[in-house]
Amino acid sequence: MTIWNLGGINADYVYSVPHIPAPGETLDAASREVFLGGKGANMSVAAARAGAHVCHIGAIGNDGRWAIDRLTEYGVDTRTITTVETETAHALIFVAPDGENGIVVYPGANRAIPESTLKQSLTSAKIGDWFITQNEVNLQIEGAKLVKEMGLNVAYAAAPFDADATLQMLPYLDFLILNEVEAEQLKAATGQGPTDLPVKDVVVTLGSKGATLFGEQGEAHVPSHDVTPVDTTGAGDTFTGYVIAGLDRGQPILQAMQTAAKAAAIMVTRHGTADVIPSLADVRAFSG
Ligand code: ADP
Repeated sequence: MTIWNLGGINADYVYSVPHIPAPGETLDAASREVFLGGKGANMSVAAARAGAHVCHIGAIGNDGRWAIDRLTEYGVDTRTITTVETETAHALIFVAPDGENGIVVYPGANRAIPESTLKQSLTSAKIGDWFITQNEVNLQIEGAKLVKEMGLNVAYAAAPFDADATLQMLPYLDFLILNEVEAEQLKAATGQGPTDLPVKDVVVTLGSKGATLFGEQGEAHVPSHDVTPVDTTGAGDTFTGYVIAGLDRGQPILQAMQTAAKAAAIMVTRHGTADVIPSLADVRAFSG
């Protein structure tokens, strides 16, 4: 089957800083690296590295050709990415020695995806395919509605958190993933906890404490692996991409989450984002 991912594509500028800057504080960065990133691109690469056929639906500016080349190199089908008259999105990512991060995103082309790109991309989608999206793009609600009518399975990572968008997405979802902070934000905004939501499977990720499934068959927990984190950026995206790739292959969700927890554990031991997402071979070799 195919995973259709309507998602953002960013240039990630990663700065190593002694700590996350406080209000009014100026810091020197010890190093700066540039990576391919964006939650959407990360999830596409993760699902492709997990062995799925992934079509990424999105937009770049004229300055973003390199991102398409990179995604293609990592096994993502990029024929459904369009070029628009806006800059490619970028993110400034500060990483502290303990692996903690702080991020500022300029959305650019990610929020200028033409509706025609979405519709044309999905003309070859088939019943039972997965569609996944996040909040870094425009059209995520239109996309979810459209694909649900077409008989696709719909997955959504409610990040960066947006209460209105999440509420509007709920009727179309088969799978919702939130980190601990997003789950708290959703509860604060709507009064709804993971068990109150009308979604078949809800996963709340808890960083080093693992991930909890609130599913049709009740609640289950998948622990994290004990690793020394150096950069937690992209851990959640890697986890999500691996889970959806597993579901797309017909794996039971808990098994997909266990594989995803290994992939995410490897990810936190590496600096960078999409470029360093582990392959299924790395995950199988992982003994943590
Ligand atoms: P996000 O990156 O979206 O904030 P989390 O921090 O909850 O998401 O991490 C997602 C998943 O990545 C976790 O459920 C876990 O499997 C893995 N993970 C994250 N941080 C660590 C860590 N320090 N050690 C091991 N695994 C981790």
